[in-house]
This record gives sequence, C-alpha cells and structure tokens, in this order.
Amino acid sequence: MSATYKAIQVTKPGEFETVMKPLVDPGPGQVRIHVEASGVCHSDAGTVEGSFPISWPRVPGHEVVGRIDALGSGVQGWAVDQRVGVGFLGGSCGYCEFCRNGDLVNCRNQEFTGIHSDGGYAEVMIAKATGLVRIPDDLSSADAAPLLCAGLTTFNALRNSPAKAGDLVAVLGIGGLGHLAVQYARNMGFELAAISRGSDTAQLAKKLGAHHYIDSSATDSAAVLQALGGAKVIVRQYKGDR
Ligand SMILES: [Zn+2]
Ligand SMILES: [Zn+2]
Repeated sequence: MSATYKAIQVTKPGEFETVMKPLVDPGPGQVRIHVEASGVCHSDAGTVEGSFPISWPRVPGHEVVGRIDALGSGVQGWAVDQRVGVGFLGGSCGYCEFCRNGDLVNCRNQEFTGIHSDGGYAEVMIAKATGLVRIPDDLSSADAAPLLCAGLTTFNALRNSPAKAGDLVAVLGIGGLGHLAVQYARNMGFELAAISRGSDTAQLAKKLGAHHYIDSSATDSAAVLQALGGAKVIVRQYKGDR
C-alpha cells in the first residue's frame, strides 16, 4: 500500500474536500482497515452539518467494512487480512462501570465513528479493536455495510420487542431503515404490515416481504391495523431516517 490514501473529509459545515492523507500506523488497541465499502447513513449529516461537536476536518462514515491491514500493539483476537465491520459505536473501554457490568453499548468512554474519529469515507481508516465485528465470507462488503447502523438498529428493535413469530408487526416508513425492518420482520416470522405514504412504495414493500401494505395518505392506518387484529409492535421511522 502507498504511503498516502484518499479520503473525503468535511472541513466546515456543508463542505467536503477530497484529500490525500499520510498513512499512519494503528496505535495501541487499534487496527488499520483497508476500506472496501462504507454505507451512507442519515446521521452522517450530523458530521457534515456540524450538529455534533466536531473538531474539523473530519471524515464521516460509520457503516464501514474492510480488511485489517495492520494491528496496533496489544490487539488480540484479530488478524491481518480479516474482514471486519465498524459501526457508529467506535468501541468500548473495558474498564468503566458499564463495561464491567457487560453493558458495552452504554460505555462511558465510547467514541462515535466519524464524529470523534475519522470514519469510512476513505480508502483507509483506524478503528478501536473493541469496536470491530466479523463479516461472514458469504456476505459482500457492500451488502454488509448498511447493516452496521441501519440494520442493527432495526434488527435490535425487533429482536428485543415482546412480539413473537405469528404476531402482527407494523413498520411505519419504508426508507433507509424501514426497508431493512421489513425484511427482518418477515424473516423472523411475523405477520407484517408496511405503512407508507402513497401507492408507489406498495410494490417494494410487498417484494421485501410485507403481507399487508397500508397507504397512510389514503386511509386511517390505525383503523386498518386494528381491523387486522392490532399490532403487537410498531417499528416507527425516526424522523431523521430517509
Ligand atoms: Zn467502558
Ligand atoms: Zn447511522
């Protein structure tokens, strides 16, 4: 690999620039990743618009898949050439009260990828080893990347819900997150109602596995859900989701 790599960074609110950055070695507990795919999440707009506190310049991107090409000191359990993913939560510290209780998601020292550290809109990124996940060989990097934020958000909402297979589940909004929620819900065995505005989305929702499509601009969605027996869970599109 050459001594520089290409990155897309934000220099001030709303402004991107393409730059060549010097290749650096990963620090203790970090790995260097040769990026193969990076999803584009709506939360990246927080980096681009500066709505998170950010020290510029900053490379956005927190749905990253690539291959490890260097290990920092003290990294165990990971190997060079292994394909890995990095999501929004950049890695837990391992010693705070939450980590010690096994609640890694709520780590007090968690950094956010693309906000506190440079993310995946680049050929190379540095990541904390504690933030990595393995990517199965039969999943392409481009298909895997969006699962690291949009996918895990909707998957965890469904798998931690009280609904059981056979229950009616509604997905409100078939956007970047909703279209994944529909596929998870169908494959988890729920009876699935997709709700969106207009008739254009009906075909997509059905193709992705929805049993019912409710056009919220033409009908009272709540009444339709009640007529179907009532939804056990409604996965609602966060207003920032596109
Ligand atoms: Zn911690
Ligand atoms: Zn995201």
